[in-house]
Amino acid sequence: MDEYGNSGEGRATRRDEAVRAAVEQGLLGPDSPIVGLLDVTGIRESAAELRAAFAEVTAPGTPVLHAFAVKATPLVPVLRLLRDEGIGAEVASPGELALARAAGLSPAETVLDSPAKTPAELREALALGIAVNADNPQELDRIDGLVRSAVSRSPLGIRVNPQVGGGSIGATSTATATSKFGVALRDEGAREWVVRAYLDRPWLSRLHAHTGSQGIPLPLMAQGVAETYALAEEINRRIGRPQIDTIDIGGGLPVNFASDVTAPTYAEYARALREAVPGLFDGRYGLVTEFGRSLLAKHGTIVARVEYTKSAGGRAVAVTHAGVQVATRTVYVPGSWPLRITAYDGKGRPKSGPEVVQDVAGPACFAGDLLAEGRALPLLDQGDYAAALDTGAYYFAHHYAYNSLARPGIYGFVPAHAGGVRFATVRDPQTLTSIVAESGGAHAGALTTLHAPGSR
Ligand SMILES: *Cc1c(COP(=O)(O)O)cnc(C)c1O
Repeated sequence: MDEYGNSGEGRATRRDEAVRAAVEQGLLGPDSPIVGLLDVTGIRESAAELRAAFAEVTAPGTPVLHAFAVKATPLVPVLRLLRDEGIGAEVASPGELALARAAGLSPAETVLDSPAKTPAELREALALGIAVNADNPQELDRIDGLVRSAVSRSPLGIRVNPQVGGGSIGATSTATATSKFGVALRDEGAREWVVRAYLDRPWLSRLHAHTGSQGIPLPLMAQGVAETYALAEEINRRIGRPQIDTIDIGGGLPVNFASDVTAPTYAEYARALREAVPGLFDGRYGLVTEFGRSLLAKHGTIVARVEYTKSAGGRAVAVTHAGVQVATRTVYVPGSWPLRITAYDGKGRPKSGPEVVQDVAGPACFAGDLLAEGRALPLLDQGDYAAALDTGAYYFAHHYAYNSLARPGIYGFVPAHAGGVRFATVRDPQTLTSIVAESGGAHAGALTTLHAPGSR
C-alpha cells in the first residue's frame, strides 16, 4: 500500500468497520434504512496526494490553486475539510458560491466558471474578488462593463474549448466540436478572436479549459491542456509580455469504479502532463486545477437496508432503500455508470456464501429502479444491507426527489480506538415536514383560489 492508500486495502477495511459501526450505533436500522457514509481519512489522503503530485512536477515557488469542483459533492463540511487540506473551490452557481462561503473559503481560494452567469452573479463575483472565467463573447461584454465601472481584484480569464474530442461518455465530454462550453477554438475566426480579446484587455490574465470528465482517456486530457498552453504562449508572444500568468487546466481525472484501487492516480496524471507539456511547469505560469470526482468518489458509500426479498421469473430480487433518488445516473444510464455493490448481514458484517445472480432494486415506483441488474453476490436476505461503493461524488449528495423519497443522512467517519468508529453528522436526514415545505406546503390553497375571469 502506498502512503496515499491508492491500493485501496485500508479504504476497504475502514468501510467495512464503518458499516458495522453504523448498524451498532443505530445510524442504520429498520427506521433509518439508508445512509451515506464519508471516509474522512480517505478524503484527506486524496487531497494530500493531489497537492504532492503537482508539487513534484512544478518549479519551486509556482503558485498552484487546487479548486475542488463543488458540484461533485456540494456539502459544506466537505468543503471545509478540503480547505483544511489546502484545497479551494470551483463554483458554478450562486448556490455553490454560497456553500463555499459558508465553508469559510476566501475569494482567493474560489473560482467561478458557470456557462450561464447572470449580470448580478458577475457583479458579486467581481466585488468579492473571485476569479472568473468568461464562457463566451457575450459574457466578456458584460465583464467589460463591470471592469469599466468598478475596480476589482478578480483574476479574469476566458474559457476555451480546444475541441480535441470526446470520451466514452457523451454527457461528460466537454471538448467535442459542438460542446456548449467555452469558446470553440477550432471554429473559423475563433482563435483570432481570442487573441484579440487579450490584446484589447490588459486585465485578462488567465486562460481556462476543462476538457471533460469521467470517460476521457489521459492522453486526450493531456492534449486538451497542451493546446490550451500553446494558445497562452501564442497570446503572450503576440502581446510581447507574459500577460497570461495563470492557466486553469480544469478537472476531469477519471475514477476507477471497478475495484478499490485508485487508477489513474494524480501522480500519474501530473507526470503525463509534464511529459506532454513541459513548458507549463517551468515556473512561468501559475496553475489552477478543478478536480471533483477523483477527490471524493472513492470515499463515499451508500448503505441501504434490504426491506424485502422475492423471486420473479426465476430472478432473485432484493428490494432496498437505495435507488434512483441517490444513484440517478446509474439507474437511468446503467451501461455508463455501473456501481460495485457489496452485501452485509443484518449486523453490518460482510456477507459470505455462494454467489447468486440477483437484482438489487431501489424503492421507487418504476421498474427500471435498479442499483444493479443480474449481479452475482452472496444472496441478500430481508434485514441485510447492500452498499453501493464509490458514491462520494455525484451520487448521494445529488438527491433526486422521485416519489418524494427523503434525502438520507450523511455521516463522516474515522477509525477510533480498539476497532471502533467515530461518526460526525454531515447532513441530517430530511424530515417529512421539510418534504412538505419544499413541495409547496405553505401554499396549499394557492391553485384553488385562482380563477380565470368568468369561470365562476
Ligand atoms: C464538472 C467540472 C469540473 C470537475 O470535473 P470532474 O470530472 O468531477 O473532475 C471541473 N471544471 C469544470 C468547469 C466543470 O464543469
